[in-house]
Amino acid sequence: MRKKVIAGNWKMNKVLSEATAFVDDVVGKVPNSDQVEAIVCAPFPYLSSLVEKTNGTKLRVAAQNMHFEENGAFTGEVSPAMLQDLGVTHVVLGHSERREYFAETDETVNKKTHAAFKHDLTPIVCVGETLEQREANQTMDHVATQVKKALEGLSDEQVANTIIAYEPIWAIGTGKTASSEDANEVCAQIRQVIKEVTTEDTAEKVVIQYGGSVKPSNIDELLATSDIDGALVGGASLEAESFLQLVEAGT
Ligand code: 13P
Repeated sequence: MRKKVIAGNWKMNKVLSEATAFVDDVVGKVPNSDQVEAIVCAPFPYLSSLVEKTNGTKLRVAAQNMHFEENGAFTGEVSPAMLQDLGVTHVVLGHSERREYFAETDETVNKKTHAAFKHDLTPIVCVGETLEQREANQTMDHVATQVKKALEGLSDEQVANTIIAYEPIWAIGTGKTASSEDANEVCAQIRQVIKEVTTEDTAEKVVIQYGGSVKPSNIDELLATSDIDGALVGGASLEAESFLQLVEAGT
C-alpha cells in the first residue's frame, strides 16, 4: 500500500515572516499518520529556518530546485550538498515553470535525479504536457519520454523511491483541473512505463502525484483513483488552513 504524499509548492511566494508563521501554524496539526506525508516546498532563503522549526515533526521541507554539480563556479546556484547539509529531505525537479523559463531539459533533470540520490534527497520529478500536445494526442508519448529520461541510469531501488508529479501544464494555476479519470489514466500509464523500464514490484512502489489546480474541494476525488498517490499543490497550499485540509484528505 503506497502512502499519500501531499506537497505544497509555494513557488516564489511569501516573505520569511509569512513562511515561518505558516509553519508555526501547521506543524503541530499535521496528522500523526503513516498513511500520509506532508511537505512544504519553500524558497531557498527559508529552508534553514523551516528545517529547524520542523525538526522532529511530521512536516517535511523540500527545495524547489537545485543544481546537479557538487560545487563550483555556478553563480546564483544551490548545490545538492548544500540542501543535504541543511536537512532538507526532498527536492522538486523539472517543474514545468523551470523547463519553460529556465531552460531545464530532460537531460538536466536526469543529472539532478542522480545528484539527489547521491545526497539522500528524495526527488519529486515533474512531468506533463501542454494543451497543444494534449489536443494533438501526444500526452502519453511526451510524458513517457520525460519519465524515462528522468529515471535513466537509476537503480530499481532509486526509482522506487522517486516521486513523480504529473502536472498537465494547462491545468497549472488556471483553475482547470484534469478530471480525476483523465489524470488517473495518465498516472496509470506512467506506472506502466516505469514497469517497462524496471520491474512490476518497483513500479508499484512509486508514488505518483497529480498537480494542477488541486484544492480541498477536488482532492478527495483525485485521491480515490487507483494510481494517484498524492498531490503537488501550488495556489491552494499557500494558506495554512487549506494546506491542512489537503493533507487531511490523504489520511
Ligand atoms: P496550482 O495548484 O496553483 O495549479 O499549481 C500547481 C503546481 O504547479 C504545483 O507545482
